[in-house]
Amino acid sequence: MGAIPGACDYDYLIVGAGVIGCAIARELVRSPVRVGVVEQGWDVAEGASKANSSILHTGFDAKPGTREARLVAEGWWLWQQEAPELGVPILRTGAVMLALDEEQAQELERWRRNAFENGVTDVELLTRDRVLALAPAANPAVVRGLFVPRESVTCTFTATVALAEQAAVNGTVFHFGHRVTGIERSPDGSYRVLTDRGPLTARWLIDAAGLWADEIARWAGADGLVITPRKGEFLVLDKSARAKVPLIHLPVPTPISKGILVAPTANGNVLLGPTAEDIGDKRDLSVTASGLQRAREGALRLAPALADEPVIATYAGLRPASSAGDYVIEIHPRDRLVLAAGIRSTGLSSALAVAREVVRGLLEAGEPLASSESPLRPRPRRSWAPGQPRPCTRPELVAADPSYGRVLCLCELVSEGEIREALRAPIPATTLDAIKKRTWAMAGRCQGFYCTAAILQFMSRELRVPVSGLTKSGPGSPVAGPPVASRGRRGHG
Ligand SMILES: Cc1cc2nc3c(=O)[nH]c(=O)nc-3n(C[C@H](O)[C@H](O)[C@H](O)COP(=O)(O)OP(=O)(O)OC[C@H]3O[C@@H](n4cnc5c(N)ncnc54)[C@H](O)[C@@H]3O)c2cc1C
Repeated sequence: MGAIPGACDYDYLIVGAGVIGCAIARELVRSPVRVGVVEQGWDVAEGASKANSSILHTGFDAKPGTREARLVAEGWWLWQQEAPELGVPILRTGAVMLALDEEQAQELERWRRNAFENGVTDVELLTRDRVLALAPAANPAVVRGLFVPRESVTCTFTATVALAEQAAVNGTVFHFGHRVTGIERSPDGSYRVLTDRGPLTARWLIDAAGLWADEIARWAGADGLVITPRKGEFLVLDKSARAKVPLIHLPVPTPISKGILVAPTANGNVLLGPTAEDIGDKRDLSVTASGLQRAREGALRLAPALADEPVIATYAGLRPASSAGDYVIEIHPRDRLVLAAGIRSTGLSSALAVAREVVRGLLEAGEPLASSESPLRPRPRRSWAPGQPRPCTRPELVAADPSYGRVLCLCELVSEGEIREALRAPIPATTLDAIKKRTWAMAGRCQGFYCTAAILQFMSRELRVPVSGLTKSGPGSPVAGPPVASRGRRGHG
């Protein structure tokens, strides 16, 4: 169906292995078509999909009438259907928007109406007492709240990896470590996508390149898209904070951002952030003293009781914000080009719906694709997902395979067995960061201080490569320098 055997490498080549590119690949391989994904990083989820708030939004606060509002709402329901089989955690914590003065309390009524316009009709205005009963760490100055019961927490790593693995199991080919550097068209209209590791050819090009989607679009002949990075900085609190944060605490949004929130994570920590700052440099993932201070101050305005909770990590992510102010999902049948871009701050929530929207567009363009009900082969089951008991605490699992009892990461209780699963998965983890995304090893309180060496040695044995050949996130990020003795010898001639 739709294939031209031998003519091109792929029927559909997707640029970008973020949550959007992976979801589109997974949706396309419901049909017997050849799908490739080209990604400059050495793993999935290396862009915005790596560094967000991991909230599964209902779309209650989206601008009514936008494509974003519609697809976030649809995406939320699709995740409920698909997450169990994919092994993606969803914590139905709910969220409360906190009005800290009378002016904000007036605003809540507007957000309630906004939610209704977006079909989120289960929201509820709360009195101060009810807010404090639901959110005991909330600022005692709170005047009123808006409860959004279906706002949920997921894990962006697990979600993206799961979509990619199911896409791979069903035939998608991933080209990691391939940076697209230019795009040519053949006389028959097919694409010749130039990468720093050679060209790939395709009948259709799907641009899901996040921050760089404007560059890819331009190279493919579509002008007009401008993507601006909007930086968000976060602090991660230790698990001691989690009991104080049973649900997501939201501020009343501002015109440019949903604002700084306090949220539980699927893995038992608490997130403070993100800030929202338009910047010029698409590579600037630095965390800054001023950004972290703003994130902390904003979060503590919502929940001052978290002031003494220890911070174990910080990070920054860049939202791919488009000049259009809405998602840019365009199908150009004549050019056989799809844009899935500008998916700024809600793409994790909407990914499954965006993928269906793209396939709907391709069907309208006459592509003979299968319906979204066509079954997919499942991704292999994992012994653990965020929020579940660790294998080392399950005697039956340890008895069946003692490697689940040999714990390498003591903070997160990650065993050799889980790391081996990641190394042997349909998209094998080949870097330390990839192990972290799949197992949460090195993401706990010590941030890898105590366990990284043991994990590297285990990876080295399993992969049969020396530790010096392993990397944090691919070539150019070695985890070990040359041996000290050999450096000394060189120094003495
Ligand atoms: C601070 C912050 C908080 C957020 N919070 C939430 C939230 O709570 N809930 C939610 O639903 N969403 C949230 N989001 C939004 C969500 O993260 C994004 O909408 C989503 O990750 C976008 O996915 P993507 O696949 O379009 O982009 P990306 O994940 O950025 O993927 C694009 C990929 O394309 C690759 N690429 C780019 N150029 C090239 C090239 N030339 N060659 C090869 N590969 C290339 C990149 O390496 C990258 O991996 C947040 C985002 C941020 C930054």
